Amino acid sequence: YFTSKGVVRALDGVSFDLYPGATLGIVGESGCGKSVTARSILGIVDRPGRIVGGEIRYRRQAPGGAADPVVDLAKLQPNGSEMRAIRGAEIALIFQEPMSSFSPVHTIGSQIVEVIMLHQQISRGEARGKAIEILRRVGVSSPEQRVDQLSNQLSGGLRQRAMIAMALSCHPTLLIADEPTTALDVTTQTQILELLRQLQREDGMAIMLITHDLGVVAEMATDVAVMYLGRVVEQAPVDQIFHAPRHPYTQALLRSIPRMRSRSRERLTPIAGAVPHPYDRPSGCPFHPRCPEFMAGRCDKEEPILRPVGDKHAVSCFLYP
Ligand code: ADP
Ligand code: MG
Repeated sequence: YFTSKGVVRALDGVSFDLYPGATLGIVGESGCGKSVTARSILGIVDRPGRIVGGEIRYRRQAPGGAADPVVDLAKLQPNGSEMRAIRGAEIALIFQEPMSSFSPVHTIGSQIVEVIMLHQQISRGEARGKAIEILRRVGVSSPEQRVDQLSNQLSGGLRQRAMIAMALSCHPTLLIADEPTTALDVTTQTQILELLRQLQREDGMAIMLITHDLGVVAEMATDVAVMYLGRVVEQAPVDQIFHAPRHPYTQALLRSIPRMRSRSRERLTPIAGAVPHPYDRPSGCPFHPRCPEFMAGRCDKEEPILRPVGDKHAVSCFLYP
């Protein structure tokens, strides 16, 4: 972000892989760059931000099921025809605020119809039929009536279902869900997560699930990337993140959540300190000022990079040489 106060590197050194049918949980405290990661993939980074380097390699899927060559999304024009063909159709986004993703003055049906007609050569009538079908599929009851309602006539849970319907209307191969259940009560949250799991089983899409809630990650993710200050500090299959976390930040995150079956009345341990502002990013490892394993002269001087520490397990920390 090229701001008047200087350059903010919201993301620098983010690297992860995501496979068809898998769910990658992206976790980290607020401000660590989860949403900017999602927006970068879709080419919708807000001004004054832009992508200055790196690669986002995405394998396109041809209609017949054959895989097309890999495209580097970071090199595409954000508003060019290829990115517009991918965004919303092959890669779809749902986020926390369904209120702001729907226009208040158009019916939800007409907005889903717009998305379908943007990417598919079909008539408005056919698109409306598809919109009703997809609303039914995501569990909206009486979709024939709901389709003609405004978003503010729906409950929070129904609005979130309608947003998922809009995202899925073009059968994406990658669904990016940015804090999709944060604004919902726990019962609705469970229903929405179950819905996403079911849709994934049926369609085989990859899901990138962004959340600060490790409970959601434990339930949903096959793999996890832990972010801190604009970097991935650890990536591993979900059971390794929970049972053999390596990075002190991951370990601290896990100590800060309640456990249902803990034997004693353990106290939760908050992570000391606060996330520094990206304007004054610490030297060396960005986590060093808060790290219980801090090694003076090393962690504040050199920048660790993400290195393999096991099968599919990588960590960015000098404790693991
Ligand atoms: P998260 O989703 O993990 O809470 P974000 O991805 O929204 O965090 O933001 C990461 C960082 O990117 C922020 O801490 C901020 O420094 C920077 N950032 C995001 N949007 C802007 C912007 N419009 N202008 C300047 N910096 C921004
Ligand atoms: Mg965010």
